[in-house]
Amino acid sequence: MSRVGAARRYDGARTESEKHMLITDIQTVVVDAARAALGTGRRTWLFVEVHTDEGVLGIGEASQSRLDAGVRAAVEEMKPYYVGKDPLGLIEPQRRQWLANPFASRVRYAAVSGIEQALWDIAGKALGQPVHVLLGGAIRERIPLYANLSQATPSRSPDDLATTAAQAVSDGFRAVKIYPFPQPQEVAANRGVALTRDEIVLAEARIRAVRDAIGPDVALHTDWAWTVTPGDAAALADRLLPYDLFWIEEPFATDDPEELAALRRHIRPRLAGGEQLSERLPFRQLFQARALDVVMPDVKWIGGISAFREIAALAAAYDVEVSPHNMSGPVATAACVHLSAVLGNFLALEYGYAGVPWRDELVAGSELVEHGTIPLPTAPGLGIEWDGAAARRHAGE
Ligand SMILES: [Mg+2]
Repeated sequence: MSRVGAARRYDGARTESEKHMLITDIQTVVVDAARAALGTGRRTWLFVEVHTDEGVLGIGEASQSRLDAGVRAAVEEMKPYYVGKDPLGLIEPQRRQWLANPFASRVRYAAVSGIEQALWDIAGKALGQPVHVLLGGAIRERIPLYANLSQATPSRSPDDLATTAAQAVSDGFRAVKIYPFPQPQEVAANRGVALTRDEIVLAEARIRAVRDAIGPDVALHTDWAWTVTPGDAAALADRLLPYDLFWIEEPFATDDPEELAALRRHIRPRLAGGEQLSERLPFRQLFQARALDVVMPDVKWIGGISAFREIAALAAAYDVEVSPHNMSGPVATAACVHLSAVLGNFLALEYGYAGVPWRDELVAGSELVEHGTIPLPTAPGLGIEWDGAAARRHAGE
């Protein structure tokens, strides 16, 4: 069956002259991915399955650990647009349909992101090519990861963080990330107020313990999780200079471009941010202000793979590096792997180290992590073997 060359209507609808694959259904599955023993708050993964009449199934991920009911409702609301259409050639039309609207919400961006990844997965499977080939071809064979330790450490004590960090290094990771300051849920009533002396001392103890555990040659990323005031950030960065931080992420409660740019000019580590953004304008404002060294778009709520690539290109024009925000399940991780393979300004991919032990069941062991890297997938589409039945077992459905 020819996939190319025949007249194709711009909206993906079937023409009389060509037999197309057709979308028959879209389903969502939500699993609880928080490690209960840790009590580190809510973490869910939300997957989007796009089914077709030829038995090809596309999978995407729209996890954001909040508003799952809203994302599922948005998928249901949008479903009639997709059912009966050819999934090939639909990626740009569906973005235009749902996101070219100033009232498009974060929830809708997430829903479109999940569906969009699934459309890439279907396109790759239908054409027999991995997504990175459809994106123009890989420029690296292995994707370096950094280990986010937040789901792996038994507690946030300096000793437990150090032990977990050392474990990640012994597993081959050459970069780790910790949250030295209070988590947002710990300071909700105190947000935007200066940290106490005890909180600062504890943060430094966490960083010192981890640096001692990983040695001088492993990169130490720190996520400040929006808990530091602009008035304190520069002095804190000075205090932490001996620990050779690789980056400081999201220091302030607001992403004020001028405050970030002022901090960036002062500090030695890279300044990273932008994980929560969906629309283009705030990215543009951050780049124009020279506010970031590293931007961290999230494929799960930026509008999908195409939208991610556009922001990465915009970042490249400002000499900003890209590190995908990815405390995600194996599906968004796969989408990020294909993006990371083709981006000239890619830096490192986030990976949720040692999270739920059943992670591999969702993709039948096809997520391959070797020595802190993911080798480039060669299977068609996203290159993972989605097991919807296993996912539904963990969803309790
Ligand atoms: Mg972060």
